[in-house]
Amino acid sequence: MLPHDERPYAFCPMCGGDLEARSVKTSEPERLVCTRCGFIFYLDPKVAVGTIITDDNGDILFNTGAQTLKGRTLRRDPRAAMCVDDERPPFSFVIVNGAVELIDDLAQVRHWAGVIGGRYMGADQAEAYGERNGVPGELVVRLHPTRIVSELDLAE
Ligand SMILES: [Zn+2]
Repeated sequence: MLPHDERPYAFCPMCGGDLEARSVKTSEPERLVCTRCGFIFYLDPKVAVGTIITDDNGDILFNTGAQTLKGRTLRRDPRAAMCVDDERPPFSFVIVNGAVELIDDLAQVRHWAGVIGGRYMGADQAEAYGERNGVPGELVVRLHPTRIVSELDLAE
């Protein structure tokens, strides 16, 4: 157990409940876990640059390689949290928690790579991005949100 005064955070960012250090997996260090809602507060998130898109159901989709840190980590444990923040004043953020589905079906990987490429690079680039990222070893990750926390214009 971490002594109380060594915990960097005392309260759950999801529900305000008390966090306590708990063993979640025997192979990993103790994590801060909410005693009220069970939220696991990871203190060592992996920061990644990426492009994401949402589908009609509100799921979040992005591409990654099966052998990347992201791909391997999600294969081991399909629970994920994604934070997107706007670091310009007046500051906004959204944190999405959920379970991911890893899709390696090439037609779907190519389709979503094209949609993502078209969204960020322009519709005329969609096909090129679909070709480039729709290859074996690439995945589509579908994050189905189960909990969303957001604040808009924090400093206002
Ligand atoms: Zn909580």
